[in-house]
Order: sequence, then C-alpha cells, then structure tokens
Amino acid sequence: MRQSHLFTKTRKDAPKDEVAKNAQLLIRGGFIHKEMAGAYSYLPLGLRVFKRIEQVIREEMNAIGGQEIILTALQNPELWEKSGRWKDDAIDVWFKPNLKNGAEVGLAPTHEEPLTALMSEYVQSYKDLPKYVYQFQTKFRNELRAKSGIMRTREFVMKDLYSFSRNEGEFRQFYEACAEAYMKIFARVGLGEKTFRTFASGGSFSKFSDEFQTICESGEDIIYLHRGKGVAVNKEVYGDDVLAELGLKKDELTEEKAIEVGNIFPLGTRFSDALGLTFKDEKGKDTAVIMGSYGIGPGRLMGTIAEVLSDDKGLVWPKDVSPYQVHIVAISGGNSDVSAEADRLYDILKENGIDALYDDRDVRAGEKFADADLLGIPTRLVVSERTVAEGGIEVSMRAGRGSALVPDSSIIEHLKKK
Ligand code: ATP
Ligand code: MG
Repeated sequence: MRQSHLFTKTRKDAPKDEVAKNAQLLIRGGFIHKEMAGAYSYLPLGLRVFKRIEQVIREEMNAIGGQEIILTALQNPELWEKSGRWKDDAIDVWFKPNLKNGAEVGLAPTHEEPLTALMSEYVQSYKDLPKYVYQFQTKFRNELRAKSGIMRTREFVMKDLYSFSRNEGEFRQFYEACAEAYMKIFARVGLGEKTFRTFASGGSFSKFSDEFQTICESGEDIIYLHRGKGVAVNKEVYGDDVLAELGLKKDELTEEKAIEVGNIFPLGTRFSDALGLTFKDEKGKDTAVIMGSYGIGPGRLMGTIAEVLSDDKGLVWPKDVSPYQVHIVAISGGNSDVSAEADRLYDILKENGIDALYDDRDVRAGEKFADADLLGIPTRLVVSERTVAEGGIEVSMRAGRGSALVPDSSIIEHLKKK
C-alpha cells in the first residue's frame, strides 16, 4: 500500500475528550475513528490489525474442534424469557429497540439462549455430541462507563464459543483444551508474558470461572498474582477460604491492575434446562447437555496490545498482528534516483509476497520517521541517497535499537528470516 493513497492521515493530537491511551494512539495513527463515547469505527490500518487478531483466534479455535457460524444480533425476547434473562435486572446492559408494530426485540449482549435453542434442532442422541460452535459477532451492551477506549465499548465484536458435552468429564476436558488454546492466542499476539489464568467467580454450577488477565496499569480489574505458579485470583473471590482451597499463600501474591482479555465459564445445565436442550443417552434416557461459554474480545485485545506494548513514540505491533510486515520509508529529498529505487524495492517485496506499507509521500524526513514510529510496523526499510550510494537498504526494528545496511541482493532473504 502506498501511503500517499491511504485516505487516513496521522495527527499530532488525539481528541480532547479521549482519555484512554489505546484510543489516543490508535486515533492519532488513523487506525480507528471515534463516533461517540463507547463506539469506534475501524479504518484501513486498524481493520488489518483487527482481522489479523481475529485470524489468530480463529486458527486456535479451529484447532480444538470449533465450527464457525454467525448468529443474528436481533434477539427474540421469547427465548430470553425462558431463561429469565430478558429482564433488565438479570442483564443490566440490554439495548431493546422496537419493531414498527411496537414489539420489542433485543440487541444481543451475548448468545447462550439463541444458540442453545438452535442446537436443540440438531442434537438428539449421545452420538451428536460433543460439539463446539463459535462466532465472531457484534454484541451490544449498554455499558455504564465507556472510558477505556476500544477496551470497553457499547458495540463490539466478540469471539464467543459454546461447548455442548455429554457429561462433566467431557466438558472439563474441552474446558482445559480451550484454556490452553487461549494461552497460545495471547502468546501469539505478544501478550504471553503478561497474561495469567485467573480464578474468578463462577455461577450456580461451578465455584470458579477462569479469566485471562493481562497485567497493565490502566486495567479496570485487581488481581492477586503468584508469579512462580503463573496463576492469579481476581479480587472478587479473593479471601482466606479461597486461597486455602487453591493452595496459595497471601504473602506470595502481588496485587496487580489487569485487563480481562478473555473469560471461560462453566454453564452446567443452566441454559439447556431452560431451553430444552437434551439428548438420549446410551440407555435411551433424556439427559440435559452440559455447556460452557468461552469469550474473547478481539477489539479489547487490540486495545490491550496498544496499551501494553507501546512506547513514548507510538505503537509497537508484534509481527503476528501488525497491519503490514514492513514499512518502506523513502527519503528522497527530491532525488528521483532514490524514488526509483524505493519504487523498485516496493515492487520486489510485492512479488515476493511481503506486505509493505510504502511511505512515498512528499514530506520531510523527520515527519516520516515520526509517523513510522507512531504507526509501529515492526520492520523499517529506509531508502535514501546514502543507502542508494552504498547499494543497500537500511533495516531497523521498531522495538529495537540501531540499524543495519543490508545489500539489495539479499534483502528478501533477510526479511524472510524475520
Ligand atoms: P467485563 O467484566 O470486562 O465487563 P465481561 O465479564 O462482561 O467483561 P464477557 O461477557 O465474559 O465479559 O465477555 C467476553 C470477552 O469479551 C471479555 O473477556 C472481553 O475480552 C470482551 N468484552 C466484554 N465486554 C466488552 C466491551 N464492553 N467492549 C469490548 N470488549 C468486551
Ligand atoms: Mg468479567
């Protein structure tokens, strides 16, 4: 992509009412646009990052047997009345618009009810289970506070997977497989070292659920972390009894602020009972399906990466989620030989399947470097009068120091190793 063609531009300042660092940086870089508090649009660079995060999650969900679908956002109140969750005191973040005839519909804040009802059309026998179904789908939540940029919005995409199992053992096996898949996801998007499986409150079917919390000063949650064991306890369940049960000692834990990037939850038969999702077991007996739900917000994850990995110059994308693999910065100073060399490099990268953003704009070198720092693409290739004279390309890393002059002839090989 030629940067001169990109319709977005970088800007020096974030909107005055934007308090969250993630949104400030992403807006300044032209990754997102703020529509209003708690509502952001994704622009070309931001959408690329978002899609790459989504793809990492998709690969790991497919690897544990997930089947992808998309359910509707519009919700039939009847289903939610069956589970007792249509009431605003059961779910306090509902959006409930009206149809032309006056009837209410819901904008889905989550999807247990419709998917459980849908599955009852396909699940009859023990032979139809287990099944694992997920989606990347837009949720609507009328959140009270929306001050954390794209980490807490009123409209957001969630990856939500639901598991349907025959018994507790089968359920637990998948639950653990999903917890492992989550840790792989967080490692792949660059948050592995700061993200910890965290005991949190469960529900009527399980004492605990598990959150995945990323240590960060701007986090809204408080957790107590055992670094050695790599586990944490959310403040909401932290107490002497729970610590004793988990074999954790108070003085070995540190209090940390953290962001909940994912959440997995045993549901037992809460929804299968309410919506009539049963199967005939081997003896022909009707049995309720055991369920679990598994959420990750790709937008919150993107915001967390922006919060945790950025520096005072701007964003720093890990390789697996960067909008482009490399950033070509042409410093031509009006010298057409330099522009021609940079054009040639851009074409060669394209031919070799290396995705590049190419800063071909007619602006000062200082501005180009500042923008490249703000955009945060991991590898930078500078083409200037000096590099052309020396027959090479200056390669540097956004997250590192120094640079190296790589000869023209070996640039592809050099980049493919990265
Ligand atoms: P929180 O406790 O932060 O309000 P939650 O417990 O309600 O979140 P879940 O319903 O478990 O969240 O949602 C699963 C995942 O969806 C969360 O772990 C988070 O990554 C993401 N998510 C939840 N709410 C939002 C939101 N308002 N904006 C963006 N992402 C969100
Ligand atoms: Mg939560």
